Amino acid sequence: MRFSEIGTRLSGQSGINDLMADLGQALAASTDHAPLMLGGGNPAHIPAMERVWEERMKEIISNPLVLRRALAIYDPPRGNPECLKSLAELLRSEFGWPVGPENIAVTPGGQTAFFLLFNLFAGRTSDAGAEGAKGRILFPLMPEYIGYADQALTPDSFTARKPTIQITGPHRFKYRIDFDHLDRLSHDPSLRGICVSRPTNPSGNVITDGEMNRLAEFAALHDLPLIVDNAYGWPFPGILFDEVSPLWTDQTIHVMSLSKFGLPGTRTAFVVGPPEVAAAIASMTAITGLANGNLGQAIAGPLIQSGEIMRLSKEVIRPYYLAKREKALTAINEFFPDEAPYFVHECGGAMFLWLWIKDSKRSSREIYEALKKRGVLIVPGEYFFFGLEDKDWPHRHECLRISFAMDDEEVREGIRIIANELFGG
Ligand code: PLP
Repeated sequence: MRFSEIGTRLSGQSGINDLMADLGQALAASTDHAPLMLGGGNPAHIPAMERVWEERMKEIISNPLVLRRALAIYDPPRGNPECLKSLAELLRSEFGWPVGPENIAVTPGGQTAFFLLFNLFAGRTSDAGAEGAKGRILFPLMPEYIGYADQALTPDSFTARKPTIQITGPHRFKYRIDFDHLDRLSHDPSLRGICVSRPTNPSGNVITDGEMNRLAEFAALHDLPLIVDNAYGWPFPGILFDEVSPLWTDQTIHVMSLSKFGLPGTRTAFVVGPPEVAAAIASMTAITGLANGNLGQAIAGPLIQSGEIMRLSKEVIRPYYLAKREKALTAINEFFPDEAPYFVHECGGAMFLWLWIKDSKRSSREIYEALKKRGVLIVPGEYFFFGLEDKDWPHRHECLRISFAMDDEEVREGIRIIANELFGG
């Protein structure tokens, strides 16, 4: 058997695959003590949300027609029409976005949405010539979500930019988009799209409204889609601690997922953008998967229709993670020596603390290995700097991602061991 070039690339080595396999092995190998899992991106199991799922499942099971619809009927490739209508109404009433069901398409999770979107825009275009020969997606602010890194079917489809680093206080920093650098791309005919996660996985950065507006201007000027990954943000699960606004323009494409709302197992996300993009995603779904899973839409549909999904996001999920963020930061303040050369990224959202050990003698990969031996799993930061031309930028080896979604005591103990590993004492 011979795999194709694309097949070889997709089935071969990738950062995310290596890391997941390594984390899995570390979990299986530890027999005496379960490792402290400060690495994964799984959402927390919030008791109040688990009660909502239980209630919704009972309602679905108790109504034969609803049950049939959820399990025994193919939805159209675009998604359940009622669910699409409810989401469009929610976006109109909450944010004033001028959208209808024609602006939305369902996908099997955000990860698949990005695979479809990147390959819709990146790569060679049919109007070949020098300009059509290559089409690239720009990530204007690294570090970014590792899950994007290997998704483009055409090699070299991604280009990325380093941020500027702003020290915001003692032991605190924030990444900012380097617009001087971005403006120099104005004449690059290979650009086909821009992508940001907001909040950003891994750093918890929330791109400011000013930065979003400038990206939107750049996108409008060059007629590029501005793809915004709301996996942790609007309108659900709403794990956003900074006060910022959602942006809608003719160019924006938002991806919204039910995963961090608490339903990663249902694999459900929504792409919201111009009608031709939503229609393209629906066609791609028909080709690659025929239809989407119905269950996530069946569970969440009525919550979207009633607006309850917003209340749960604001009153249950956001405060839950905010309290966890505070406890994790308290543990950092308690265990990290004040004189140590460390900085924590301002955590404006999501479920991670992003730690920068300035001028670290060991790479983040070496620190990850040392911590793994001590029973603490984190994610080494170097995975999140794909697409950068400057491979020697020391910063990319000086950062660690710590998840605070797990049990508070586990997070605190993990942070104590990290402090000890890094700075002794
Ligand atoms: N985008 C970001 C920033 C993520 O962190 C994740 C998952 O962790 C995804 C997208 C994909 O999530 P899902 O496919 O479960 O919607």
